Amino acid sequence: MDDAWVKRDRDVVWHGFTQMSTYASSESAPVVVERAEGHELIDGDGNRYLDAISSLWVNTMGHRVPELDQAIRDQLDLVAHSTMLGNGNRVVVELAEALAEVVPVDGPHFLFCSDGASAVEQALKIAFQFWTNRGVAGRAKYLAFGGAYHGDTIGALSVGAGGFGTDVFDPLRFPVLRAPGFSDPECFTRAAALIAQHAGTLAAVVVEPLVQGAAGMVLAEPEQVHALAATCRAHDVLLIVDEVATGFGRTGTLFASEQCDVRPDLLCIGKGITGGYLPMAATVASQRVFDAFLGADLSEKTLYHGHSYSGNALAAAVALRHLRLLDERDVLANVRERAAELATLLTRDVAGLPAVGEIRQRGLMVGVELAPPVDGLRWGRRVCAAAVARGVLLRPLGDVVVVMPPLTITSPELERITTVLRAAIDEVCGP
Ligand SMILES: *Cc1c(COP(=O)(O)O)cnc(C)c1O
Repeated sequence: MDDAWVKRDRDVVWHGFTQMSTYASSESAPVVVERAEGHELIDGDGNRYLDAISSLWVNTMGHRVPELDQAIRDQLDLVAHSTMLGNGNRVVVELAEALAEVVPVDGPHFLFCSDGASAVEQALKIAFQFWTNRGVAGRAKYLAFGGAYHGDTIGALSVGAGGFGTDVFDPLRFPVLRAPGFSDPECFTRAAALIAQHAGTLAAVVVEPLVQGAAGMVLAEPEQVHALAATCRAHDVLLIVDEVATGFGRTGTLFASEQCDVRPDLLCIGKGITGGYLPMAATVASQRVFDAFLGADLSEKTLYHGHSYSGNALAAAVALRHLRLLDERDVLANVRERAAELATLLTRDVAGLPAVGEIRQRGLMVGVELAPPVDGLRWGRRVCAAAVARGVLLRPLGDVVVVMPPLTITSPELERITTVLRAAIDEVCGP
């Protein structure tokens, strides 16, 4: 731990989801990054940490990728940012054209923003206004799942299921119809029944496809997500698919919707879109949704929503280069091969430990659920701190240790992660 920098940090920076009074303690073991090389983050003392959570799930190909660095430098010589409100920017057009070729949405139109939460917020507002614009009254509710996480702004928080201490905001949440979480085998049957029952008041259903990430990597089967989409279609309810975490290769296909054979009305993308370089996200609307907003100039059909940094040119430039690089480097093949390898390593080294309950994995999204005998041991936190002390950066969700390596992770690095994870669990929980 780089004590001087941790103290300076603590004195002026307010970290999200972090109790600042204990931030600088040895158990929190914060790393103050100075620079990075490939898959490793480096602090001011030269200590190296394998970024095994991809900088909170955003990084895809490691840090300081020469091609991505260059894309930003080149764009900087043109323009860093210009507004999307009533105007365009060439590199944003190019990015939208390239994304249109690959997103699982029919006739896609892109409304850019800067964070996943904003992409969800935009989707909620678009779904609501879609019905209003079509003259359909009373479609103002949303159905979401237990365990869902869609971001931290008030609307995204409302469709999310809570947890992580966010219950304090309950009075601010608008009510939603809530199906059970993916951990309940009945959740999709229950959701289908709720949709049938409430179709006349539902604006949209919101779902994370295949994996509820923040819930602790809780899995669904592709057929279940497919059936959910079919139910939405049958009852003419819009489907919002939140691929902020699963998008851009995480689960072995560019989008998880592909495995589910689902084409949503609204798709939320973010996190990996720029390879982890710059804040960018987008709400992707199908042609049908988009068309409902066409009308006379200054009419009430217009979508009155926009963010200052929507369609930032530097972010668009790196996102465009990143999309092509995923292809050039055949990154998805690496995800599938390394995911299989990681499953084998975890089975061999980690699954049998008495402290480990369950291991859930889809592509390079993994949750190792610890099973502490009593509450309050904070095993998740302490195991991750022990891993950080051994040079592998991990961060838990409660007692679920998340392993989310960059998509370009190598076999030796996976060995390093599992070896360190095993040692960390042994140290904290006993062998
Ligand atoms: C991270 C995440 C979000 C929120 O994205 P931010 O960029 O952190 O606002 C939304 N949905 C899912 C599924 C996520 O994993």
